[in-house]
Amino acid sequence: MSDDHRSAARCRADVDLAALDRNVRLIRAALPARMAYISVVKADAYGHGLPQIAARLMHAGVDLFAVANLAEAAALLETGAGWPVLVLGPLLPGEDRRAVERGVAVTVSSADEATRLNAAARALGKTVSVHLKIDTGMGRAGVWHEEAAGLWATIAAAPCLRLAGVCTHFASPDDDAAFTTEQRRRFLAALALCPGLDATKLLVHADNSAGLETMANGGPFNAVRVGLLQFGVLPRPGSLLAAARTEPVLSFHTRIGLVKKLPAGATVSYGRTHTLRRDSTVAVLTAGYGDGVPRAASNRASVLVRGQRCPVLGRVTMDQTVVDVSDVPGVAVNDEAVLIGRQGEEVISLTEFSAWAGTIPWETLCSLTKRVPRFYRASLGV
Ligand SMILES: *Cc1c(COP(=O)(O)O)cnc(C)c1O
Repeated sequence: MSDDHRSAARCRADVDLAALDRNVRLIRAALPARMAYISVVKADAYGHGLPQIAARLMHAGVDLFAVANLAEAAALLETGAGWPVLVLGPLLPGEDRRAVERGVAVTVSSADEATRLNAAARALGKTVSVHLKIDTGMGRAGVWHEEAAGLWATIAAAPCLRLAGVCTHFASPDDDAAFTTEQRRRFLAALALCPGLDATKLLVHADNSAGLETMANGGPFNAVRVGLLQFGVLPRPGSLLAAARTEPVLSFHTRIGLVKKLPAGATVSYGRTHTLRRDSTVAVLTAGYGDGVPRAASNRASVLVRGQRCPVLGRVTMDQTVVDVSDVPGVAVNDEAVLIGRQGEEVISLTEFSAWAGTIPWETLCSLTKRVPRFYRASLGV
């Protein structure tokens, strides 16, 4: 969409594709040379927009894409036919055939899944690549690590399955290094119990963005699954990964639709949860939870107007949010308000914004709605 559209949008997200490039380069440089880069682009590339992000990542030279489900895999292949893609989540029975037809790799967590997939591949006269997923303590997808050898035997005996990888997923990589170490140990122990499994011929992966913090050099690991960090958001503030100096790719903006004065004692918004302590100038923003401003951030968030932090007053509503601009001279209708991002010297990070709503950056990105147009720039350069 054009700059005209952008400046007219009452609410928008700017996506800086040049920052994405730089982030991928920095992450790559921080990884051991032999590591394959599996780019995780589920949930519409973390809300950034799958086609644009995937196209850029294809140029940036990632090795493989990972998505949550088959619909996302299909969308990815529309952007880049023939790109290798791994489906992370379980397939439903009706999806096996389509997965084989599309030629995507699939994670397998149970003998039932392996058998179904093998039958679908046989019926089509094809083979399908699978990654054996081992549950080392996440308690979600994967075969329990003590039972991995049984699933390996099922896969090895299935003529139409080709084992391409083995993987696990960490439960608390950002705040429990000891358990992460234990998960790595269980994973290696499980592999050691799979007779004839040659890890050197497979993609062996465990680390997500936060896992990179504790990534062990050495061992059979030769691939990482990077999601959030690509978008310049650290899984934990102040983490070691900060040294990689990635930059935020997305910023979130809205406009002021109305400026007015209200007297001390007036209350603001639904439920009357905020009472003005002084005569105030308030600004009504043209964004609300219908756009992705979390209602949980009512009375807690701030936005940037004319380079200053302005607190949200009262409840965030579906389409509008009220902020206090009493201390900001010259505020006018149509001024831009930054919800996430930089304005002048001030910055509101995605992490800070998410904390106001009692949530995590991943969820905030998934909560930006369809009503928010994404504008892509090679570089914002501001
Ligand atoms: C989402 C996901 C990732 C990426 O996680 P980030 O924390 O965003 O890097 C990696 N692996 C699996 C299995 C996932 O579901």
